[in-house]
Amino acid sequence: MFNFTAAVSENFDTAINQLNLDAALAHKIKVCNASFTVNFGVKLRGVMHTFEGHSCIHSDHVEPAKGGIRYSPHATREEVESLAALMSLKCALADIPFGGAKGGLKIDNSKWTVEEREIITRRFASELFRRGLLGPSRNVPAPDMGSGPLEMAWIADQYRRLNGNDINAMATVTGKPLSHGGIEGRNEATGQGVYFATLGFLKSDAVDRGAFPSSSLSGLRVAIQGFGNVGSHTAVFMAQDGALIVAVGEHDCCVVNPEGLDVAALRQHLAATGSIRNFAGATTIDDPAHILSVTCEILVPAAMEGVITAENVGKIKAKLIVEAANGPMTPEAEAELERRGIAVLPDLFANSGGVIVSYFEWVKNLSHMRFGHLQKRREQALNMKLVAELERQSGHGVDERFREFMLEGPTERRLVESGLEDSIMLTLAKIIEMRKAHQNKISLRTAAYMIAISSIALRYNTLGL
Ligand code: NAD
Repeated sequence: MFNFTAAVSENFDTAINQLNLDAALAHKIKVCNASFTVNFGVKLRGVMHTFEGHSCIHSDHVEPAKGGIRYSPHATREEVESLAALMSLKCALADIPFGGAKGGLKIDNSKWTVEEREIITRRFASELFRRGLLGPSRNVPAPDMGSGPLEMAWIADQYRRLNGNDINAMATVTGKPLSHGGIEGRNEATGQGVYFATLGFLKSDAVDRGAFPSSSLSGLRVAIQGFGNVGSHTAVFMAQDGALIVAVGEHDCCVVNPEGLDVAALRQHLAATGSIRNFAGATTIDDPAHILSVTCEILVPAAMEGVITAENVGKIKAKLIVEAANGPMTPEAEAELERRGIAVLPDLFANSGGVIVSYFEWVKNLSHMRFGHLQKRREQALNMKLVAELERQSGHGVDERFREFMLEGPTERRLVESGLEDSIMLTLAKIIEMRKAHQNKISLRTAAYMIAISSIALRYNTLGL
C-alpha cells in the first residue's frame, strides 16, 4: 500500500543529507506546523450528515499559506499534511511568497447534487473561517482533485458574507471563475505549466539527446493518466504543439490510438457521456492500468498519487515521465527508473503552474485591477505606429500574423502565460544548475527539494523563528 507521507519524508531526507543542514533546523522545516480536523454536521434530505474536513498549515514562515482543497472520499489528515509539505516546497522552489498548506474534505461528489455540494462547501468554509484558517493574509485555498472554480466561488462568497469589512475578501481563495474575481488562464494553468516544463526540459542540455534527438514536442508520443483538469489541459497544450496524444487513461478504462487522439473531441465525449469509454476513433481497453505500459516517449501521470510502484515500473516504456499529479511514484520506482536512464520531472516543479497563476490571481485581487488594464491601449497605439512606419518604409503591408500579434497588446491572458512560462523556465534552470553542481549524480527531484529547503532554511535562519 502506497504511503505518501513516507515517500515525501524519504525525498526530504535525501535532499537534507546532500545539504548538510543542521538536524534541528531540518526537523523544523520538515514537520507540519499545525493541523486541524473539523467534523461538521449538515442536514440534507431530512437527515443529519457529518462531514470530516482537514486543514493543514505546513509552513507559515511566509504568509499567507497556500494549497488546494481536495474533495475525495479518501481524504485523510495524514495525506493532507504530506500534500501541504509539498506545497511549502513548491512555493519556495518557484520563489512565490506563500507558505504551504492544504485542505481536504472527505466527500463523494457523485452522491450529492450541485446545490447540496454548495451547502456543504459553505459550511466547511464557515468552519475554517471561525478557526482563523481562511483569509487573504492567512490561508488561501485553491482547487485540487475533486474541486474546481465553482467550489472556490462558494468559498470566496462565504468568506465575504462572514467578513463584510474585508475589502480583499476575493483574495481569500484562488482558482475562482473569471466572473467571480478569477484570472484568465487559471483553470488551464497547471496543464499549461506541465507543457512548459516538458518543452523547457526538451530544449535544455539536461535531456538525453539519444532518447530525444529533437528539442521539440513535434511527433512525440504522449500517454496521459487522468483526464480531469490537469490531464486534459496538458493534452490540449501538448497536442497544439504537435505531440501525438496516443493514449488517455481514466479510472474505468483507457482509450488508445497510435495515430493520435482528437483531444477536443475526447473532451466533448467525456462531457457528454461521463466517460472516455467507447470514444470513436480509438480503441477502448478495459484495464485502467494499461496506460502505464503504452508505447510512448512521454508518460504523464495526472490522476493521483502512488500509481507507479516497484511492482509495475518494469512495464513503463516511456523515456520521460512528467509528474503532473502530486506524488505519483514511490522512491523505489524512481530509483529503478533512474537505473534505466528514464528521466523524471518531479511534481513540485512540473505541476507548479497552478500555484504560480494562483499567485497572479491573488495579486490581481489585492490590486483590484485586471492585468493589462493600464498599459493595453497605450501599447497597442505604440505598436500600431510601429507597424504603420514599417509599412511606410518598406512600401508594402506587413505579414497579417505579425500585425495581429503586434496589435493584440498585453491582454491578461498573454501576461499570465508569459509570467507562467518565465517562472517555469527560471525554476528549471535552477534545478539543472543544482544538479550540475553535484556532477549530475543527484536526481532532478533531489535538486528541486534542495533548492526549496535551502530557501526555507534561509528564512528561518535570518528570522530566528
Ligand atoms: P481532477 O479531479 O480534475 O482529475 C483527476 C482525474 O483522474 C479524474 O478525471 C479521475 O476520474 C481520474 N482518475 C481517478 N483515478 C484514476 C485512476 N486510477 N486511473 C486513471 N485516472 C484516474 O483532478 P486534477 O485537479 O486534475 O488533479 C489531478 C492531480 O494533479 C492530483 O494529484 C492533484 O493533486 C494534482 N494537481 C492539481 C492541480 C490543479 O490545479 N488542479 C495543481 C497541482 C497538482
